[in-house]
Amino acid sequence: MAHGVALANSVYTVGRMSYEKWCELSRQPPKRSQHPFSLHVVTGSAVLISAGHAVRHHRGLDPTIMKPSDRATGPLVEALAFSTGAMALVAMEPWPGNSNADPLENCVFKQRVCVEIASGRIHSVIDIHGMTDGHGADICIGTALLDDSVLAQKARGLFEDAGMVVAMNDPFGARGPGTVTRVAQEHGAEAIQIEACYRLRVGDDGNGDRAFFEALCELVTSQIT
Ligand SMILES: [Zn+2]
Repeated sequence: MAHGVALANSVYTVGRMSYEKWCELSRQPPKRSQHPFSLHVVTGSAVLISAGHAVRHHRGLDPTIMKPSDRATGPLVEALAFSTGAMALVAMEPWPGNSNADPLENCVFKQRVCVEIASGRIHSVIDIHGMTDGHGADICIGTALLDDSVLAQKARGLFEDAGMVVAMNDPFGARGPGTVTRVAQEHGAEAIQIEACYRLRVGDDGNGDRAFFEALCELVTSQIT
């Protein structure tokens, strides 16, 4: 029997897909913390869904050059966690770190991912990002060190069944030494990176794509059960 969870004046049901929750959260401003290194965590187990580029972050060696957020990815992983019972990890302002590039020793985001894997609470990591619409695919799945990832093939099948064009590792393979996906694999987890195009995350009306959300729900749920 599903049970209701009260959060932020709304009640929704664990175990049911909450596409509407994603839309609602996407209309809110980016999460901010009083503490410069705080991360937003939604408690869960088995699968960690991460959005390290949910807020503005630095790029390259020049700390004055900031890159915009991967829009709607923070609300997306939150809504997915609420829907599936997975754990969500979301970057909050004013942390300027680049979770998908910085060395592990300088990255509180990846350090938290590694703590969760080491604890045994998490066995799979799905790191979600946003790309522009100009890459010739709706989604690019990055497999980092594992070309024959079962999780990646499962994700590809679900997205293609939903009518999306999926690219594998081109142009985003998550192969750099500082990616969340690669570090999670090196610490023993099954992990993939999913780059979703702007149309799937924001669309024309500010709402993400329902079929994309539901395919992600199915992917996460399949890794939990
Ligand atoms: Zn990104």
